[in-house]
Amino acid sequence: MRDLFIGGQSVPAADGGRFDVIDPATGDVLQTVANGTVEDAIAAVDAADAAAPAWAATAPRARGEILRRAYQLMTERADELARLISQENGKALPDALGEVLYAAEFFRWYSEEAVRIPGTLATSPSGTNKILVQYRPVGVCVLVTPWNFPAAMATRKIGPALAAGCTMVLKPASDTPLTALALAGLLAEAGVPDGVVNVLPARRSGAVVSAMLHDDRVRKLSFTGSTEVGRVLLREAADRVVNVSMELGGNAPFLVFADADLDAAIEGAMIAKMRNAGEACTSANRIYAQAPVAAEFARRLADRMSALTVGPGTADGVQVGPLVNREAVDKVDQLVRDAVAKGATVVTGGGRPDPEGCFYPPTVLTQVPPEAELLREEIFGPVAPVVSFDTEDEAVRLANDTEYGLVAYLYTGDLARGLRVSERLEAGMVGLNRGLVSDPAAPFGGVKQSGIGREGGHEGILDYLEATYVAVSW
Ligand code: NAD
Repeated sequence: MRDLFIGGQSVPAADGGRFDVIDPATGDVLQTVANGTVEDAIAAVDAADAAAPAWAATAPRARGEILRRAYQLMTERADELARLISQENGKALPDALGEVLYAAEFFRWYSEEAVRIPGTLATSPSGTNKILVQYRPVGVCVLVTPWNFPAAMATRKIGPALAAGCTMVLKPASDTPLTALALAGLLAEAGVPDGVVNVLPARRSGAVVSAMLHDDRVRKLSFTGSTEVGRVLLREAADRVVNVSMELGGNAPFLVFADADLDAAIEGAMIAKMRNAGEACTSANRIYAQAPVAAEFARRLADRMSALTVGPGTADGVQVGPLVNREAVDKVDQLVRDAVAKGATVVTGGGRPDPEGCFYPPTVLTQVPPEAELLREEIFGPVAPVVSFDTEDEAVRLANDTEYGLVAYLYTGDLARGLRVSERLEAGMVGLNRGLVSDPAAPFGGVKQSGIGREGGHEGILDYLEATYVAVSW
């Protein structure tokens, strides 16, 4: 049994309600968790608000040292945390361990950024006065995270928020609240004062988040999740003009030019497609290969995909775990059926091995027609559609033909082409001859309907700071 974490205490929900967290590999109940209510949400804001002045006034070096301890504790406990992630999310243990180490790096990076919060002093153009600009913490933050990276999506927000001097209420996805609660305990142990980080698991996400966004004390919403829910929350945030950061959905194109090193491109595609079994916003959703290499690329990708070991995420040797829940499998299944009905060819995979379970086989499709839904929608599963193209212009046009703009990948042996195409791709991030872009030291985020704001890098802390300016004469 796990409770809410408010004001440094584990507390049950105000109405005593609980919900089950399910292991998607077996369908068994892993834990029951307190189901936060609106009353609990307000209590969490009370705690964050009460803790805010002292935390904002804590020396940046002291905030940084607490973050550094959190990084150390997290890396020491990486195996334990990875097992928990694998159990509640389903992902294979190597993916879960990779996530923990990546997640911990946000604490380390922001332990170093806490002492580098910028500020400027300039002479005004008229010469009559000085312009003093300082950055202060934005205030109480509401952080809403998805289930696909239960640790990393939380630390990517908590790290910069703590470094900036903000207090917060984290509302984790209800499929994966256990990792967030484990992080809360770890942060308390690292020295985060009571009330600075509160965790509110809740099945009634809409009601609790809405209540917090309509509370005058809340000044910031940082959301990671689908574009659909992001739009709803942008409207909610508009009521009180709450500062927002939005990390939303993606539909990443993966371009392979005929002059690319095909071995490297296959390796990159396996990472971009299969990290987290395709349940990533950065997942390669559409693979475009230039006509002379398209057939060979699809065949070699299918060979690699079909050789992957599928099974329960925590089992030895498993590379692809179950998807997070039955609805996720239904969606992937429906998208593949739609593509096949419209003329796509299944090179490997396709079909549900266990109609009652959460597993879906690694799948490669070719001859995918432009009207197939999976070229427009996030697949969020281990399915790679390969489409062929002829010219560079066509590749850019196909890649940009989406309302999303999170990440794009391209492989080419010609660096000039690589940089030229990178500049033309409508994406916040580009992997040039790389299948992985995520890095705590780099600004992660999207353009178009993939989001607003950046997480990670020097830029990430700015989302939790507000510039204040003093016009001063002396
Ligand atoms: P989701 O939008 O369904 O849920 C995200 C979070 O919002 C969860 O905590 C959920 O409980 C909560 N939520 C749902 N409805 C809500 C409402 N009406 N009001 C307030 N909160 C609500 O997304 P998901 O299925 O958990 O995650 C997958 C999505 O997240 C994909 O679209 C993926 O691309 C995106 N994602 C984006 C990034 C990024 O950095 N851009 C990273 C990871 C995932």
